[in-house]
This record gives sequence, structure tokens and C-alpha cells, in this order.
Amino acid sequence: MTTPYQLEFRPYQRRFRQPLQTSHGSWEIREGIILRLTDETGRVGWGEIAPLPWFGSETLKQALDFCHQLGSEITPETIFSIPDALPACQFGFESAWEALSSNLQSKIQNLKSKITYSCLLPSGVAALREWQPLWNQGYRIFKWKIGIASIKQELNIFHQLADALPASAQLRLDANGGLSWEEAKEWLQVCQELPVEFLEQPLPVEQFDALLELSTQHSTPIALDESVATLAQLQACYRQGWREIFVIKPCIVGSPKRLRQFCQQHKIDAVFSSVFETEIGREAALNLATQLSHNRAVGFGIDRWFVSGMANNFIP
Ligand code: MG
Repeated sequence: MTTPYQLEFRPYQRRFRQPLQTSHGSWEIREGIILRLTDETGRVGWGEIAPLPWFGSETLKQALDFCHQLGSEITPETIFSIPDALPACQFGFESAWEALSSNLQSKIQNLKSKITYSCLLPSGVAALREWQPLWNQGYRIFKWKIGIASIKQELNIFHQLADALPASAQLRLDANGGLSWEEAKEWLQVCQELPVEFLEQPLPVEQFDALLELSTQHSTPIALDESVATLAQLQACYRQGWREIFVIKPCIVGSPKRLRQFCQQHKIDAVFSSVFETEIGREAALNLATQLSHNRAVGFGIDRWFVSGMANNFIP
């Protein structure tokens, strides 16, 4: 039995500057848990549990119950045997454990400067006035949510957006599973003519066969996101033949160690993306992205969605 770490944890809440609208509904407050592990020499590793239950992770309450029953200490054996039903806890604890290894940290800092970011635009017509300041900040890849208003309205805005954007800009469209088969076909038809990097999760998770069929019919790649929220789902989609893009949200996907093994073994085309975690989860997620993402921008351009950065009172 290895020496246990001291464990401290504290729940946090962060309010969005404006509620985030997706086809799942409106999201106003990001809640999660910040973890701190301390080893016997006094070294500290931080981690974050940032659940997204409507996306397939545990709830905040389940995560908190898990933390409470641990008490004030945790061993590596316990960290590496957290059940798959608690993927956000697996990520939070394992990344805190990894953060204790300073060698890994310095290696990753060097790689991080090479990352490019995609930026999430507000949904609807607001995208038309908000892309420009973001472009001026250096963003070149923009993500825009669809499947919220009618397809007619959204196509109209989309054409204006595509016309307005400079030629070197690229768009990612994310339907959050909110399109019908006919709508998905219509979007893919339109995308063929425009600088669209990919269409994300056009159909709901249950329609995997239809997603697979769509992916063979159009030149614009399709990315799975909701379909691959956890490592088990990711592996299942791969087994069933998915070879286009996988969106990985590290904070809810589960064990970083097993994710690393899977990505390295199968060399999947992965896009790493945020779940609106704080800087602590983001740091751990970007560490994984630097190791596992090949050439796609990461979806972590989300700063503008919160009033300020990490508030000190989150820290236990
Ligand atoms: Mg998505």
C-alpha cells in the first residue's frame, strides 16, 4: 500500500456572463469541485471535477457524495479504481495526481505554445456582430451553435456570417444533436461550398447508424460529440466503425491514462474541447490535448463567457 495523499475539496459556482444557449436548453451557472492533493513531502496537485450530467457524466451531487465518503485521505490505488459511472471524478482525481509530477508539467508547458484555439461565438444573430473583435484578438476558427432556431433563420444568418468572415477564417457548426435527417442533409449540402471545418453532432446519440451514413455522403467531415462523451462511448463508436472526428471533452471523458492509451493505439482524429471548467481543469485538459491532438484547434476559446477568471475563494 502506497502512502496516501491528503485530500481537500471545495465546491464552486461560476455564473455565465450571459446564459449559454444550446439545443439542450439554457445554462446559467457552472458548478464543480476543486480538489487538492498533498503528498508526504508537502507537494501539491490540483484537480477539478466539472460534471456535465446532461452530456452523460455524473451529477454534481454524485461527485460530492463520492468526495465526502473518501474522508481526508486518498491513495493512488483508490484514484485508479474510481468507477466508470463517475467519469468527471476519474478525470479530476487522476489529473490532480498527475499534477504532482513536476517533470510532466515542464515538458507540457513547452508544447502548449503550439496550440491553436477555436472560439465559441454566441448563437443566433449575435454572432454577426461578435466575430470581429474575436478576429482582432487573433482567433481564426469560430464555432457556432445551430439547431436552436428554425433552419431557415439559421441558414440565413450562416450565409451572412460566411460572407462577412475573411477568407482565412474557418467555421465549426455544432448542432448538439438537434437536427432532423433532412435538416442535417441540407446543412451538409450548404457546408460543401463554404469554409466549414466540420459539422458537429448533427443527429441525436441514438441515431448512430444514421450519423455513420451521413458521414459517408458528404465532403464536410462530421464530428461526434454527445455520442462520445465518455471513454466507453468513444470506444464503442470506434468499434462500430466511426473514423471521422471525435470531440473529446477531457473533464468528463473519464480516466486520462486510459484515454491516452486509446488515442495512441488508434490514432483517432480528435478535437479537444472545454466544458466551461475553471483554469485548473482547463490546464489538465490542455495537457492532454498537447499530447494527443494532431493538427486541430482546441475548443477552449471560452474566456469571454465568464465575468472574470478563477476567483480565489474557490481554492480550498
Ligand atoms: Mg458539441
